[in-house]
Amino acid sequence: MKNKTTHPKYEQTLVIIKPDGIQRSLMGEIIGRYERVGLKLVAMKMMVPTSDLIEKHYTLDPEWRRITGEKTIKGYHDKGLVPPSENPLDITKKILANNCKYMTSGPVIVMIWEGAHAVAIVRKITGGTEPLMSDVGTIRGDFVLDSYKMTDEDGRAVRNLVHASGSVKEANDEIKHWFNNNEIIKYNHVQEKILYDVNLDGILE
Ligand code: ADP
Ligand code: MG
Repeated sequence: MKNKTTHPKYEQTLVIIKPDGIQRSLMGEIIGRYERVGLKLVAMKMMVPTSDLIEKHYTLDPEWRRITGEKTIKGYHDKGLVPPSENPLDITKKILANNCKYMTSGPVIVMIWEGAHAVAIVRKITGGTEPLMSDVGTIRGDFVLDSYKMTDEDGRAVRNLVHASGSVKEANDEIKHWFNNNEIIKYNHVQEKILYDVNLDGILE
């Protein structure tokens, strides 16, 4: 048998329903979208995060400041707009402060979802960062209408309902940041039989 922990079906990702997701009464809708694709919820808690917890969350990856700054600048250029600065680090300094304000404004729900390609599947269902450009059919594309233009005008974070880890490495770091090992539940879900069982030998009587 192949190594249990490296099989793709054991991949885990971190999802946070942000304060606007809760205030918009979309908890059930959001959870339902990850649930119906076949992922398994293995940890969940509701809390009001501290600013410190949020700042550490966004800077677990030392490259996050540069990457998010560059992504934001590209978002402006793609629309023929001038970004507030051409320096990615100036851009993310503001984004980080605004994120701390946004994410500590009320309760959030923090979850770990497990299953095949959990990170990529959850990102696909969640949609792109800027709701104006997120695909129809994704959570951010279907339920929210925010844009970088709006957030710059008002000096705040993009309200996009959900956080989802961007890579397997980010997921592993974020899971350790938000959860202790004893908060993560190992259990079998009956649908794993039909999703992953190689021989499908438990169906016929
Ligand atoms: P994602 O959440 O899609 O992984 P990032 O990691 O790049 O996106 O950014 C983290 C969060 O910071 C976003 O979800 C959004 O809430 C906020 N954010 C990112 N870029 C901007 C921006 N240009 N203006 C305002 N808020 C932003
Ligand atoms: Mg991210």
